[in-house]
Amino acid sequence: MDSHRGGWIEIIAGGMFSGKSEELIRRLRRAVIARQRVQVFKPLIDDRFATDEVVSRDERRLKAVSIGTSAELRARVEIGVQVVGIDEIQFFDNGVVDVCMQLADAGIRVIAAGLDQDYMRRPFGPMPALLAVAEEVSKMHAVCVRCRGAAHYSQRVSGGNAQVEVGDTSYEARCRGCYERYTAEAEEDLAVQLTIPQPVS
Ligand SMILES: [Zn+2]
Repeated sequence: MDSHRGGWIEIIAGGMFSGKSEELIRRLRRAVIARQRVQVFKPLIDDRFATDEVVSRDERRLKAVSIGTSAELRARVEIGVQVVGIDEIQFFDNGVVDVCMQLADAGIRVIAAGLDQDYMRRPFGPMPALLAVAEEVSKMHAVCVRCRGAAHYSQRVSGGNAQVEVGDTSYEARCRGCYERYTAEAEEDLAVQLTIPQPVS
């Protein structure tokens, strides 16, 4: 809530292409307009766009500090800051949950955006704990590329089996009905080779 005073945690969760960064930037801009002291952070891993900014898909941007760990995030929060924004929070270590709690307990409004599930629909990194401790949770939805329904999943369509595969072209937004389990082709071939019974000579 923009009208809220004092510390609390709000999480903007959802799949890829669901407008999480747009929503984060919208809330942070309102805080800036209300003349609150705002600081924005993002993980170093997210270098899709400019490294010193949070950029949404609709080209909105906000100055951001790129950091590697939750401890570094805690150390970089300046005295007097009222609002802390964090983008792509799923990429941080689990310590980021405690850091968010400490900041909120100290009276800071924490607004964080992140993927709630990975491409296998597994809860992503610190997100489950963040969703539990947050005062407010917004679940964002994208448009399913197959049926145009509300999409909650980031369907991987190319690349390997690593949890993190940065790049929009490797993913599609899909709803529950259109989601398909993805397996990288190279590994699929390998699995087939290993399971083919050898002819007995
Ligand atoms: Zn669908």
